[in-house]
Amino acid sequence: MRKMSRKYKIAVLPGDGIGPEVVSAALKVLEAVQEAMKGLELKFIFGEAGYNCIKKYGTNVPKETIEMLSETDACLKGPMTTPEEPGSPPSAAVTIRRTFNLYANVRPCRSFPNVPALNPNIDLVIVRENTEGLYFGEEFEVSPGKGIAIRLVTESASEKVARIAFELAMKRNHHVTCVHKRNILRITDGIFRGAVFRVGKEYPSVYLDEVHVDAMAMRLIKEPEKFDVIVVTNMFGDILSDEAAQIVGGLGLAAGGNIGDDYAMFEPVHGSAPKYAGKNKVNPIATILAAKMMMEYLGEKEAADLIQSAVIKVLKEGKVRTYDLGGRSSTFDVAEEIASKIKEI
Ligand code: NAD
Repeated sequence: MRKMSRKYKIAVLPGDGIGPEVVSAALKVLEAVQEAMKGLELKFIFGEAGYNCIKKYGTNVPKETIEMLSETDACLKGPMTTPEEPGSPPSAAVTIRRTFNLYANVRPCRSFPNVPALNPNIDLVIVRENTEGLYFGEEFEVSPGKGIAIRLVTESASEKVARIAFELAMKRNHHVTCVHKRNILRITDGIFRGAVFRVGKEYPSVYLDEVHVDAMAMRLIKEPEKFDVIVVTNMFGDILSDEAAQIVGGLGLAAGGNIGDDYAMFEPVHGSAPKYAGKNKVNPIATILAAKMMMEYLGEKEAADLIQSAVIKVLKEGKVRTYDLGGRSSTFDVAEEIASKIKEI
C-alpha cells in the first residue's frame, strides 16, 4: 500500500568528468518514479563539489556544500576527479564520508540477465569499513626514500560496520563472511575480526565464517555464488569490490551507498572517466542503481523495486545498452528507456 505524502530533500552533487551526464540520467529515472508513485515528493537541491571547485574555493567540497548536505535527507553524488599532487585536497568522497561519519560502504554485486558474468547466480554485498584502515590517510616520509603509512583500526568502528553487515544478512541469506589478513596484520586485523565475531553472537541465525583477503580475491573468481554479505576493512574492501564489479559486467553497473547513523550518500563505484566526459557514451546504470539504493535507505522500497525491475527489463531486452555492454546506445537513451519502463510497470 502506498503511503500518502512522503517528501524528501535530496542533495545532488553532479561532480565532474562524466558525473553530470550520469547524474542527470539518474534524475530522469527518479522523476519517472516520482510520477509513477502518488504521494512521493523528491526535492532536488544541487550543490558544487569536485575538481572544478578547487580553483574557485580552494577545496573540492566547499563549506556551503557541507551546510547544504546537512539540511537534506540523503545525497546522490556523481564521480569526481581527485588531484594526485601532494598537498592537494583529499578525495571529495572521502571528505564527505568523514564529515558525516558515513562509516559503512555498501556495494552490492549481482548478475543481471543478458549481461556476461562469471556465474549467473551471483548475488553478494560487500560491506566495507569506510573511515579507517590504510585510507585513514596518514603517511610520512621518515627519511628520503623511506615512507610509512598508518593503518588505523578501532574496535568501535569495526563493531559499527559489522552491525550493518549482520542487519543486511538478516534481510538476505543469513550468511556473513569476515575477510581479513590476521595471520600477518595481527593487531589491526585481530581487532577487526574480534569485533565482527563479537557482534556475530548477537545474530545467532546468521552463519558467520572467515576468509583471508588473498584467498577471497581467488574465491570471488572461483565460486562467487557461495557468498552473501562480506564484511571487510577499508582498502581490502575497495579492491575486492572492484573485482566483484568486474565479475558481473563491469563498473558501468556497480553502485555503492555510504551509510552513517544519521545520513547517507549514494554514488556509482566508478570514477570520473575524464576521457569520456561530455560524450554521452558511458553507462548510467551504476548511478541509477545508486539512486535505487537511496530510495531503499529512505524507506521507499516500492520505488527502489520499481527502479530495479525497470533496469532488469532493459538489460534483459538488450536493445538499448551502452558500449561497455556491447551496445551503441547513448547515456541518455538508456536513461529514457529505463524511465519509460517505469511508466509502463
Ligand atoms: P574510472 O572509473 O573513472 O574509469 C576507468 C575506466 O572504466 C574508464 O576509462 C572506462 O573505460 C570505464 N568506466 C568507468 N565508468 C564507466 C561507465 N559509467 N560506463 C562505462 N565505462 C565506464 O577510473 P580512473 O580512470 O581510475 O579514475 C578517474 C578519476 O576518477 C580519478 O581522478 C579518480 O581519483 C576519480 N575517482 C573518483 C571516484 C569517486 O568520485 N567516488 C571513484 C573512483 C575514482
